[in-house]
Amino acid sequence: MGVIVWAIRLLKVRVAETSFQFKNKRPDRTYEWSPSTDFHADPMTRTLFTILMVLSSLSALSAMSACRDAPATQDSPSLSERSGPSVLVITAHPDDEAMFAATMYRVTHALGGDLHLALITDGAGGYRFSTLAEPLYGTSLTDEAVARTELPAIRKKELEAGGRIVGISQYFYLDQPDEGKTENADSVMKYVWDTDQIASRLDQILSEHSYDFIFTHLPIKPFHAHHKAATILALEAVNRMPPERRPIILGSFSTGGMDDVVAQFQQLEGFPVTAIRKDVGPWTFDRATPFGTDNRLHYGIIANWLISEHKSQGTMQLFMAGPNPGTERFWLYALNPSTAAEKATALFDAINAPPHPF
Ligand SMILES: [Zn+2]
Repeated sequence: MGVIVWAIRLLKVRVAETSFQFKNKRPDRTYEWSPSTDFHADPMTRTLFTILMVLSSLSALSAMSACRDAPATQDSPSLSERSGPSVLVITAHPDDEAMFAATMYRVTHALGGDLHLALITDGAGGYRFSTLAEPLYGTSLTDEAVARTELPAIRKKELEAGGRIVGISQYFYLDQPDEGKTENADSVMKYVWDTDQIASRLDQILSEHSYDFIFTHLPIKPFHAHHKAATILALEAVNRMPPERRPIILGSFSTGGMDDVVAQFQQLEGFPVTAIRKDVGPWTFDRATPFGTDNRLHYGIIANWLISEHKSQGTMQLFMAGPNPGTERFWLYALNPSTAAEKATALFDAINAPPHPF
């Protein structure tokens, strides 16, 4: 066992010297040790990695034969002891985060990462879909005047209930008006939201935290303008950061709706900052990844748990319903540095790597 500890310590030092070290200052990342992150490491590191993997496998086999029901040993860090990537999700409305549900769960539960969420609007415009929640909350939520007063607080509670499932640890509420249902992102940024205020708040959030990745919605044309505007403002905020501090920013859209439009997306017309790289990606996580007894469980359960917390809503539930739980896909925006593709590959190799679910 002492040899394994030595190999781990030496490997940590070697890996820390490779270009795959994420910016977060904590040294005890476990997910960096996936084979893909090691792939471009130098020969000495590769050798150490191989030795460690062989010794770990022998040790695990020996432990399994001794006692198959034994709890995790001290060599397997518990969830609370792990430390992984730091991720910020930037969305327009409570329930938008459902599109990343399974990936967020893997980031926090499998990789031990930190997960924060910045919400641009107050969510009051969701009253149009609150019919089924009226008896549940005992108030006339489909009445716009009632909703404008009561819905923001209700939706924040729903968001945080879902956030507890996927492990969101911090929320930033920008409370912009949830008004003006349109596909025109320009009009939202000019006439509905206070974009200067959003920009300075995002700048503050990004300066006070050291994120490795930002997840946004892919700003496809036939999407609610709030979603597109939230992504544009997120990209512009990253562009204002000093290059050495910039997180890698990804655009996401899960399968199951508008797949043709998503496949053709290159950038939102009029907003070159939204251009994505078509030569790499998308990186994916399949919610149907199986685990559990007879492999009958999958991460669609997590996505369902999360979306079911948003009881004042309904359209995202309909989008996510069906026999196939779908695949969460992530594209790299072109403004990212050239090393971003390797880092995105490392992240998603780790997200997809067994064991499942943890
Ligand atoms: Zn939305």
